Amino acid sequence: MPLSKTGTPSHSGEQGPPARALAQVVGLLEADDPLSGLSDGLKEVVDTAIQGGEIAPGEAYRLARSTPDDLAPLCRAASVLRDGGMGRDVSFSPKVFIPLTRLCRDFCGYCTFRQAPHEAERLYMTPEEVLAVARAGERLGCTEVLFTLGERPEQRYPEAREWLEGHGYRTTLEYLHDVSRLVLRETSMLPHGNPGTMSRREMEQHKEVNASMGMMIESTSPRLSEVGGPHEFAPSKRPRARVKTVEIAGELKIAFTTGILIGIGETRLERIESLLAIRELHRHYGHVQEVIVQNFRAKQDTPMAGHLDPSTEDLLWTVAVSLLILGPNVNLQVPPNLSYDDYPVYLLAGINDWGGISPLTIDYVNPEAPWPQISQLRHRTEELGFKLRPRLPLYPEYIIENDEYIPASLVERIKSLADGEGYVKGGIERYASDTP
Ligand code: SF4
Repeated sequence: MPLSKTGTPSHSGEQGPPARALAQVVGLLEADDPLSGLSDGLKEVVDTAIQGGEIAPGEAYRLARSTPDDLAPLCRAASVLRDGGMGRDVSFSPKVFIPLTRLCRDFCGYCTFRQAPHEAERLYMTPEEVLAVARAGERLGCTEVLFTLGERPEQRYPEAREWLEGHGYRTTLEYLHDVSRLVLRETSMLPHGNPGTMSRREMEQHKEVNASMGMMIESTSPRLSEVGGPHEFAPSKRPRARVKTVEIAGELKIAFTTGILIGIGETRLERIESLLAIRELHRHYGHVQEVIVQNFRAKQDTPMAGHLDPSTEDLLWTVAVSLLILGPNVNLQVPPNLSYDDYPVYLLAGINDWGGISPLTIDYVNPEAPWPQISQLRHRTEELGFKLRPRLPLYPEYIIENDEYIPASLVERIKSLADGEGYVKGGIERYASDTP
């Protein structure tokens, strides 16, 4: 019995059915031996993970052969693993979302964020506009300024080049650097830049003005860049370019958020391949602070408007498999606003983070999908026996256990915002003092 039909009318998630009832449907709450009910071919693979071992690549691919009956045991096994590694604290980052520019040199088949110059209300947000949003967020207790923007628009559009030149810049990344510095100078907020692929020199410069940075790998499948694929006209989505960016971040000791986008035409084997690539990067550099499992949502007026959204079961499977492959010490996120009312069930498949939640700005990448109110998020998280905690854009373990990832220029700022455990000082009571 499916938990939900994808494509159900979107709403805010404010009035969802009790998460417990949802979870019951696929048996996620049964207190059971996590291996019981698993297909024989998977028992050994999952047991390796539960016993604290690392699933070898060849074994990991066997997970792609799981049947619908394997779903609940896989989720339970992932939950057991998460409980043992990260515990029952679930984090979110109180943030404002700043779409510095929606111009982009690329065309991805699912994107409604990008705009051509003639469609854009403004080519770039001005420093004054950026500061106004950051200050409004600061007043609401937000600690993260998420800069999301199109990829190197000046390479495609003369209008972008002219705007930048008129403001004293050659590139969008130079402008991003300066507005990030401005936010640091004028507010108590912490920038988290998400500008796409970057060179080593660019990342070195941005490290000093970012608490952490991010870029979704999305998929390591080169097939998606072939003719007719979602990345055919998006050179920055070539897997090699994206893996290289994550690698440079590791070499420079930048705490980094990455993840996979599911449902854009990749196979389950390809998802596993992407997860193994992320695991390898983290094993080498130790800098992947968070892995996002993001589900594709079809949007009108895009080449993929008729493409099916992944089902709840497919997302549950991917979350569970992600944790089993990445291991118990990974921070795993599912964006709650992209899953309608079902979002709490992903807590029962191994996640421990809800990502950035804004009490002020919309999700410009998914404008049809409002974030839940923080009080509702708290209620629905606690309902399943977890504790919701606000975090900074730098994860607690990168503040408390290993401070070599804190940029020298931000040590004082970050220490002043964090409590003794590395979470936002003042805790959840700052944002949601009573649950409904
Ligand atoms: S998803 Fe990003 S890279 Fe692709 S078109 Fe949209 S803004 Fe550009």
